[in-house]
Parts: sequence; C-alpha cells; structure tokens
Amino acid sequence: MTEAQVLRDASCADDFDPNSLPVEEALSRIESFILPIKDTEQVAVRSALGRVLAQDVLSPIDVPQHDNSGMDGYAVASTDLPATGTITLKVVGTSWAGKPFSDSVQSEQCTRIMTGGVLPAGTDAVIMQEHVEVVGDSVKIGTGHRKGQHVRYAGEDLAAGAIALQAGHRITPADLGLAASLGRAEIRVFRKPRVTFFSTGDELRSLGEALDEGEVYDSNRYTLFGMLTQLGVDFVDAGVVRDNQDELRDVLARSAQTSDAIITSAGASVGDADFVQQTLEELGQVNFWKIAMKPGRPLAFGKINDALFFGLPGNPVSVMVTFYQFVLPALRRLMGQLQTAPLRMKVKCESTLKKSSGRMEFQRGVLDTNKKGEMIVRSTGEQGSGILSSMTQANCFIVLPTDSGNVTAGDLVEIEPFYGLM
Ligand code: AMP
Ligand code: MG
Repeated sequence: MTEAQVLRDASCADDFDPNSLPVEEALSRIESFILPIKDTEQVAVRSALGRVLAQDVLSPIDVPQHDNSGMDGYAVASTDLPATGTITLKVVGTSWAGKPFSDSVQSEQCTRIMTGGVLPAGTDAVIMQEHVEVVGDSVKIGTGHRKGQHVRYAGEDLAAGAIALQAGHRITPADLGLAASLGRAEIRVFRKPRVTFFSTGDELRSLGEALDEGEVYDSNRYTLFGMLTQLGVDFVDAGVVRDNQDELRDVLARSAQTSDAIITSAGASVGDADFVQQTLEELGQVNFWKIAMKPGRPLAFGKINDALFFGLPGNPVSVMVTFYQFVLPALRRLMGQLQTAPLRMKVKCESTLKKSSGRMEFQRGVLDTNKKGEMIVRSTGEQGSGILSSMTQANCFIVLPTDSGNVTAGDLVEIEPFYGLM
C-alpha cells in the first residue's frame, strides 16, 4: 500500500480534520486490495445456502416442462368458449398433477384438471371449477374466459439453456429451490474465507470473570462473532490480546499464516497505537487512516503477508459500524460476491438530528410506518459510540452525508436497513 496516503495522527479529539479520508475513498482503497478467492468446491444443494456461486447454473430443462394448469378446474379449447350465452362441454377424463390425460380432447369436450396437471392435447385454457356448473357428466361454461387463462406455460419459469443462477451471486433459500427444480443435486461455490479476530486491551475481561474497577467485559468479540456467522465465513476467535507487544506480534504472525483476513478491535487510536503501529509495520504493510466519519474514525487497513488486516476502533458501536461499512463489503468481495453495495433509500425523518458538517455520520434509526402507512425513520436517541443499546434498538442506519448539517423533523434522510445486512 505504498501509494496510499498514510495518516498517522488518528486523533479522536477534533471534530473536523481536512486531512481525514472520506468514507468513499477508504472504500475504494480497500476494494483495490482485494483479490477474490478463486478456489472452489462442489457442495450438496442444501450446503450451498449463503455461499457464493462459482459458476453460472444453466437450466438443462424447461421449467415447467409442460404447459400445465395453475388452478383446479376444467381444461378446454378456447375455440369452444362462447361469446354470448353458455356452452355445455362433456367431461371426458381427468388430468392429475403427475398423471396426465393421455388422449386428446375433441371439440365440445373438456377434462377435469388439477393444479399442476399437464394440459391435454387440444386444450389451451383452464376454467376454474368455481366458474362452471356441473350437469351430470358435463359442465356448463359462460362468457368472460379467454385463451391461456390459468395456464402455466412450458419454460415460463426457465427456458432450457438459460442462466438460472449467476456466478458471483450469494445463494438464498429461493435459489436452493430453483436449483432443485432443475434437478441439480450439487452446486459449485467458492471456498469460504478464513477470518481470525481478536480484541486488544488490558481493561477487557471475559465472561465469567469478575470486573475490577475500570474493567469492561469484552463485547466486541461477540458482535464480531454474530456478524461473521451471518456472513457465513469460517472464523477463529483468538480471544483477548493484552496491550503487550510480544503477545500481539505472536498472535498476528500466527493468524496471518492461516487466515485470509484478520480483524482486531481497539488499540488503533493514538493513545495506545504506538506499539500496535510498530508491530504492524514490522509484520506487514498497514496504514492507519483517520476517516471522516462518525462513529469509528480511526481505522487500520493493510496486509500481513497475504492476509487482509482490519484494525477496527475499540468502541462497540464503532466496531459494528466500521465492520458493516468497510469489512463486510471487503469480505463479500473476497468471497466472490459481485453485488456488495448496500441498499439505501430516502425516507422522512421524524426526529431532529444533530449533525456537524465535515464527516459522514451513521446514526442509529428505527424504520417504521406512521398512521398514514408511510415509511418513516426516527432516531434511537443518544448516539455515543459506546452505547451498544442504540444498535440493539435500531433496525437501520441513518446515513448523513459529509456536507449535511442538522436534520429537522420532517426532512428526508437516507437510510440503510439492517435487513439484508444482518
Ligand atoms: P481504544 O480503541 O482501545 O481506545 O478503546 C476505545 C474504547 O472501547 C474504550 O472505552 C475501551 O474500553 C472500549 N473497548 C475496547 N475494546 C473493547 C471490547 N472488546 N469490548 C468492549 N469495549 C471495548
Ligand atoms: Mg485500548
């Protein structure tokens, strides 16, 4: 990262710093460093959930394979349908789903047909059973019907040879169903990235330990665990590393040998950064950036051998915000995913928001509907970077651009829903 600008004065004290790096710039610098994983593996369809497709999946067949009925009713020839009055058609058989009517249907005849039943030869429309009058072994049909109604055509879902699922796409429950509908038992996906993460700080205690004065429980490893689990990567939780250079060097060097990415929290701001910075310099190429954003301004990014390194801030909200804004798109790219940009939209804000110009803010919001059924967002309240409860209450980020100032209730703001993120 020699070409990248190295900003070492990662101080949190001042609000506005013209040398700080815009979020977009940090994102594109990070992106330029990512070499997506090329190794692939063939997995059973169910195991492909959440994985990234390594090859296009082509449909070997028309789905559905035959014209069939979308309703329970009667299969008819549309040429028999009356323009006025009614017509009586003789019911000559039944087409069940999976058990077709083998004969062809003649004029003034029809068959009973069930949902999914193949349309018999000679028919091209389905009349819902509720819309006929059964008279002995015939049905009486009125006007208002048309050719093709309630017919699902062969190949209308997927035509033979068409791309059913595209390489670089992350597999959803619908995709599992789609693959199964093509008769695919296995899918080729990219290898999962291996991520190692740990916390740094002398003040951190693990669950089950008692807290002394000034100590806190390590929560960052738990949010990271959750975020990485949902992303679907393989990871190792390397615990807490004390503010001790030898220990840090050791853990980092070992992690770099086995990981595609390393994520740490805390220790990247100027107070305790000296030895972290020194250690990272010895081991790899890592830059310390001050990013024009709130929360989560100091961010270290670079490489230790072939492993990407993300040094996140220490404050719990900053960890989550910087993870979602920088680490998540980077890991998605690493996983081979093509689509990594977050979904954002504008909605009316019901709260007044304090915002100073010069940096981008990721405030925590609750997306809701008002009495008129319109989508609105309101603030979760106190926005301190240590207030993790703001993240638990929120269901979206309110993304306030660099140049914007305070928000007045009623203004439109951009939001990024957690849905899809989390
Ligand atoms: P630092 O970046 O080391 O200056 O830490 C900033 C703040 O985040 C301090 O209040 C730390 O105690 C807190 N902090 C750092 N790491 C963690 C962690 N793993 N869990 C909870 N709080 C943390
Ligand atoms: Mg610290």
